[in-house]
Amino acid sequence: MTTPQINGPRLLESLQALGQIGALPGGGVNRLALSDADRQGRDWTVARMRELGMQVTVDAIGNIVGLFPGTEDLPPVMMGSHIDTVRTGGLYDGNYGVLSGLEVIATLREAGIQPRRPLAVAVFTNEEGARFQPDMMGSLVYVGGLPLQDALSTCDADGVSVQTELQRIGYQGTAAVGAPVVDSYVELHIEQGPVLEQLGLQIGVVEGVQGISWTEFTVEGQSNHAGTTPMALRHDAALVAAQVAVFVRELSQRLGGRQLATVGAVRLSPNLVNVIAQQAVFTVDLRNTNSAALAQAERELHAYAQQAAQAEGVRISHRTLARFEPVAFDPEVVNLVEQQTQALGCSYQRMPSGAGHDAQMLARICPSAMIFVPSVGGLSHNVREHTTPADLQRGAQVLLQVVLALANRPV
Ligand SMILES: [Zn+2]
Repeated sequence: MTTPQINGPRLLESLQALGQIGALPGGGVNRLALSDADRQGRDWTVARMRELGMQVTVDAIGNIVGLFPGTEDLPPVMMGSHIDTVRTGGLYDGNYGVLSGLEVIATLREAGIQPRRPLAVAVFTNEEGARFQPDMMGSLVYVGGLPLQDALSTCDADGVSVQTELQRIGYQGTAAVGAPVVDSYVELHIEQGPVLEQLGLQIGVVEGVQGISWTEFTVEGQSNHAGTTPMALRHDAALVAAQVAVFVRELSQRLGGRQLATVGAVRLSPNLVNVIAQQAVFTVDLRNTNSAALAQAERELHAYAQQAAQAEGVRISHRTLARFEPVAFDPEVVNLVEQQTQALGCSYQRMPSGAGHDAQMLARICPSAMIFVPSVGGLSHNVREHTTPADLQRGAQVLLQVVLALANRPV
């Protein structure tokens, strides 16, 4: 059997067509979860699934699953991603995974190939979390990580609930949440970072998703006159924020590996040129693919912050804003992605994902993995997000070969 080949122009056309829905003047897309544009995007995608002869179901959190039958009645091999975007999103984040899944189905159909296991393409609700938090909501509910009622009662900034909006756009379905039970899951996605482009590589074989730890610190010092207060008598909240920012940069260098550390937000008050800051509120974002190393980074951060506060004679407190353990994808599926990438003669490297994805949720219930293609300039969540047509086609071809191998493997 010769391997069927993805129709690149057809894949590009579909990306452009979906990109018209919620299109922003001058480029890019605004298709916030459960908005009118999201409804139109869903309608368009469901119509495309039906054209391909897929059986479409929608569950109570609005996840859409299209099913393409196999020769045997077995759990499906699932592809998919999301079609919601941030307010100033691009054409590829999420959409590329969904539409490549549909392109795989179209290609197999044309070639008259029916794999042993069914194939599914999923569109998960509210992956971005730009309107309703948490992000990855649909896939988290799907795998049982968030109670359906909690997700449905989540409100946006205007106080409108997920449930209200799902009903309004006609996408609160009747399928059981978590159905169908999935054999395995493979998500194709743009990298959303600069690594593949900088190394001149075509494919990223994604081994997992790095863990995330977000902490907000509040430092309470004493505001006073910048001209009359001797240095030794100050209780300067800004100083501690600055010291922690320097410390985490050094910490990441010392721990090495894949430790990342960022102080991304600092708010001083009264925030005046000639007044010692009474208060500093700042955030620390720590990420690592290694669970133990991430925990060590957190411990060192807290110990240092305490010590710095004590030395300056200020009070410090903190709260956790987010905490996700690193996720390791299934070694066998990762190996399969690597083999099929090699078989196609593509250049590649194994790498972690810097961003969160639905695949990290699916990994809780079935063997899962991801495939990355390069992002031009490393840009994403940006209207100028771009991936070259050749890279888009290559990634979809890897996806096809991986899911075909998974679907046809012996029972
Ligand atoms: Zn995405």
